[in-house]
Amino acid sequence: MTISAVRTHRVSAPLHTPFVTALRRTTTVDTLVVELVDSDGRSGFGEAPQVWQVTGASVAGSEACVRELLGPRLIGRDPDDLVARCAEVQRAVVGNEAAKTAVDVALHDLAARRLGVPLVRLLGGTSLRVPTDVTLAAGDAVDLAAAARQRRADGFGVLKLKVGTDAAGDLDRVRAVRAAVGPGTRIRLDANQGWTPREAVRVIRGIEDAGLDVELVEQPVVRWDLDGLAWVSDRVSVPILADEAVFGVRDLVEVIRRRAADLVNVKLAKCGGLHPARTLLDLATAHGLGTVVGSMMESQVGIGAAASLVAAYGTTAVADLDAAWWLAWSPVQGGIRYDGATVVLPDAPGLGISGLTEAKVQAHS
Ligand SMILES: [Mg+2]
Repeated sequence: MTISAVRTHRVSAPLHTPFVTALRRTTTVDTLVVELVDSDGRSGFGEAPQVWQVTGASVAGSEACVRELLGPRLIGRDPDDLVARCAEVQRAVVGNEAAKTAVDVALHDLAARRLGVPLVRLLGGTSLRVPTDVTLAAGDAVDLAAAARQRRADGFGVLKLKVGTDAAGDLDRVRAVRAAVGPGTRIRLDANQGWTPREAVRVIRGIEDAGLDVELVEQPVVRWDLDGLAWVSDRVSVPILADEAVFGVRDLVEVIRRRAADLVNVKLAKCGGLHPARTLLDLATAHGLGTVVGSMMESQVGIGAAASLVAAYGTTAVADLDAAWWLAWSPVQGGIRYDGATVVLPDAPGLGISGLTEAKVQAHS
């Protein structure tokens, strides 16, 4: 049994609502879907989201990496040696985590499909339902309060508020959202590196003093400033979640060594796929760090893989997997769907994806 073809599909799918953070504003998900085909004609899918401002990954760069390097190495190889294939993918190239993720996830999807089990079963779990938060795009206090009410009406009980664009106004934003949703809703913040360490402590202490009950604050300061992150963590009670500061294992080791954060946000497109993501979750857990699994702005392909990981492994805090909820249409047939605040995994082999929505997707093989 061998891998007989590697195909790439460029996807640009519109959002129903613009997505705004301290780093960027976007109205589409741009991503590369990778399809591995075995000699029986089965396909496994994975994706490499384009995120210029966070990972530096682009559709064109990931496509070049898969077509010129990763793909040719897989042709003719046995897909059932999953661990060996995934390790080869990790070693094959420096950086290019998004491209590695797409291939790693496609290998897992194909292996699960060949066994006839959902991906979550291959990973060692049975649950098909994964609760998620939902993001409130960065905006002014009035817009955020309105969006918060809307998302509560959509069924979400954990709201992730994008802050960090304007430290002076952030306390008022949180106050407005808390007033809009009342005490029963969980609120978490993501500053996306937007504050200085001093601003972070000032805003977070203001939130604490006002009793606004914030669950956690994600990546308050610039990603490379681990001393600044630790300085903030030392001075506030609200748990601090490292996101952009931790891509792979070496980053996490440094965060642990400096006690720079309380939790880590593990994302497939930062670390290179399911294989390295499991190492990160194990390492964090071994050192008493809390865990969240999140995603980039990506489609049902990547969210299906990340949700399968959460369903099998569990995390200490609710997942951050709303990205595909923002899409006006799915680039794939089958795969995950949202039921209110829950990602529902299909009870079908692998990721349960039967193919791409071809009319809307440009194929290259
Ligand atoms: Mg984040």
